[in-house]
Amino acid sequence: MTSRILMHVGPSIGNYDVLSAAVQPNIGFASPEFNSAMKSSLEGLRYITGADDSYTPFILPGSGTVAMESVMSFIPRNSRILVVSNGVFGDRWEAIMSRYPVAIKVLKAEAGKSVSLEDIDHEVSSRRYFAVAMTQVETSTGVKLDVESVAKTVRNKVDLIIVDGVASIGGENMQAARWGIDVALTASQKALGAQAGAGLLVASRSAIEKLREESISGYFADLRNWSDLMNKFLAGGGGYFATPPIGTVFSIQKSMALIRSETIEARIKRHEICSQAFRAGISHMGLEILASEKLRSNTVTGVIVDGIDIPDFLQRCMKKGVEFGAGVHPAFRDRYFRVGHMGWVKPEHIITALNVIESSLEEIGKEVGHGSALAAEEVFSKHHEI
Ligand code: PMP
Repeated sequence: MTSRILMHVGPSIGNYDVLSAAVQPNIGFASPEFNSAMKSSLEGLRYITGADDSYTPFILPGSGTVAMESVMSFIPRNSRILVVSNGVFGDRWEAIMSRYPVAIKVLKAEAGKSVSLEDIDHEVSSRRYFAVAMTQVETSTGVKLDVESVAKTVRNKVDLIIVDGVASIGGENMQAARWGIDVALTASQKALGAQAGAGLLVASRSAIEKLREESISGYFADLRNWSDLMNKFLAGGGGYFATPPIGTVFSIQKSMALIRSETIEARIKRHEICSQAFRAGISHMGLEILASEKLRSNTVTGVIVDGIDIPDFLQRCMKKGVEFGAGVHPAFRDRYFRVGHMGWVKPEHIITALNVIESSLEEIGKEVGHGSALAAEEVFSKHHEI
């Protein structure tokens, strides 16, 4: 077994109890244990997304992409949809939706930046859009979109507001009901820090009402097949549409229980402090952060290092016990790497990560400022709550 720290952008830093909850003597999907795990996981999902009881929570087999594709269940044929894309995962909305009979307009930001509120407002004011789809944290750059402000801007102009929170929910604030968001979705392996294998979403009453209309979605991810089933789990029962990711659901149940005992507010604060400390260390080294200053997220940081072979650097870090992610944004691909500080991240992970980055860069002859861990420690010393 490896004892490497996984600071990739997902799966993220693990917790032994959460991951091992997936490994049990085989339990059937019709068992009371599974029904109860679904019920508490669905309720936990409402809790972490700020969704009240009017929202239907879903846990689907698959991953974040299945949750994204499942939103096509709410969208009528020939609808016009605005996609706000801050990078590779914003573009995934376009890739998915272009398979369906809908008209898409994409507003794109430069790498490290965000589409502006003004541009979004201008677009929804000049044409009738049925839905706006966006990404809360763009994993290719670490940019956080202010989804609360976007929702406020578009709420009275569109039917459906959809937020991909795959790299944020559980580590960033999400208040679906308060902010008027119809669909907020995530995946089990990111800021929830559970086993991979499930896509999760909450859908507002008004979104669910759209399931009465004709469907343009496929079969598996058509939420018409899943919504009654989710209500049965919420009521303490169960049932079957397609085999659920049983182990992953037990892992999610454990994650949700730990999140409740920590509280979602404290968890978000922990992410915020850890990300600040990490960035303080990176800046101390003299390295550049890809996301513009005001757009930096609690969960993902892209670090630009020019003049080195990034894959070789990442291998060296891996050998020293910390795994980071390669860059994926085409505009910066060979010039940066990505760090996930989410899930069960703690100060010691940040300190270790900074030491490993600093010593690996030194090893390959890149001159950087020394003592980055101390710069991080300084941030931690101001916050005794974590
Ligand atoms: N959206 C975002 C913001 C993501 O970070 C990811 C995964 N990196 C996805 C969607 C796709 O999720 P998955 O890989 O779980 O299908």
